[in-house]
Amino acid sequence: MTLIMLLNSARSPKYDVRVGSTAECPPTQATDPQSGASKTCLVDRFGRFHDYLRISITDRCNFRCTYCMPEKGVKWKPRDEILTFEEIVQLVTFFAKKGVRKLRITGGEPTIRHGYIDLIRELRTNPAIEELALTTNGSRLSKDAPFLKEAGLSSINVSLDTLRADRFEAITRRSELELVLKGIEFSQAHDIPTKVNVVMMPGVNDDEIIDFVHFASSKCITVRFIEFMPFLNNNWSSCSVLSSSKIREIIGKEFQLQALDGYPSDVAREYSIPGSAGRIAFVSSVTESFCGGCSRLRLTADGELKSCLFLPPAVSLRDILRYNGTDDELEQAVATCLAGKWAGHPPMRDWAQRDHLTMVQIGG
Ligand code: SF4
Repeated sequence: MTLIMLLNSARSPKYDVRVGSTAECPPTQATDPQSGASKTCLVDRFGRFHDYLRISITDRCNFRCTYCMPEKGVKWKPRDEILTFEEIVQLVTFFAKKGVRKLRITGGEPTIRHGYIDLIRELRTNPAIEELALTTNGSRLSKDAPFLKEAGLSSINVSLDTLRADRFEAITRRSELELVLKGIEFSQAHDIPTKVNVVMMPGVNDDEIIDFVHFASSKCITVRFIEFMPFLNNNWSSCSVLSSSKIREIIGKEFQLQALDGYPSDVAREYSIPGSAGRIAFVSSVTESFCGGCSRLRLTADGELKSCLFLPPAVSLRDILRYNGTDDELEQAVATCLAGKWAGHPPMRDWAQRDHLTMVQIGG
């Protein structure tokens, strides 16, 4: 499909969102009301409008989580292959003109990249960006939280798969549970909306489900149970998944969770815990996929663009920048990337790895 055909298809009634597979998505405008720039390069052939860009700013991490990378780590990218902060700002300026409204800074572990708070402060000056979030392992939060608040960060997701020190060490190959818990406390104390991401792994941490509900309730925080997903070299199999419905069943024996309204593009389904400000959420990519309302694009640390978590990168935006390419060339590349996006990931029971990147290289 050529770019012109794609542009035409995005606007033609045949692909009008109201009749496509994503009927619940809001109608897509051809131009951005703020900048007047065309937004078609962010609309895929199913009418999904991609206004959420996840940016990995490093492929390095100070933890060694077993489901993310091998003990000895992965071969880090040479520094000169990694996007500079100037290049990230340039790309965000381009995407914001096209209609991106939400950014999430990820890694590897983004907080270990020197100057990342300055980058957040800089990106926050873009008036088109409504939300700027961070995903972190929390090891630096107790130090950085006040500066992140001042830099204008909207929210933080902290990855924490256990509340037990021994198990924390077994999963992350680090003994920093107390530091992470302190980081969560500091983030909340500095009034940064904070959530906790828990990758549920049967036989590893599934006996802590109720403990995490109590944690959410006592800390007035949202705990998100994430189904274990397949990434390169993480020994995933469909039987290593504890489904969200099963987790809800386990919780339902002790708590009457109340479902909360959400948006089609939300990845998590949220529930309130009666009598507490805490919440529980489920990210069910494996058993209850939410691809129909997908609004996400991903930029790897070396500037490659992915249309889906599970599809390989399609284009290098870094290379276009480095040969002084134009916005039109960036737009062409983004449209080409989205032209290859599927309606949704196939059933996981017969999963085939399509991406040559590990989770630490994608940023989740
Ligand atoms: S699996 Fe891919 S298409 Fe589906 S929600 Fe995730 S990123 Fe979007």
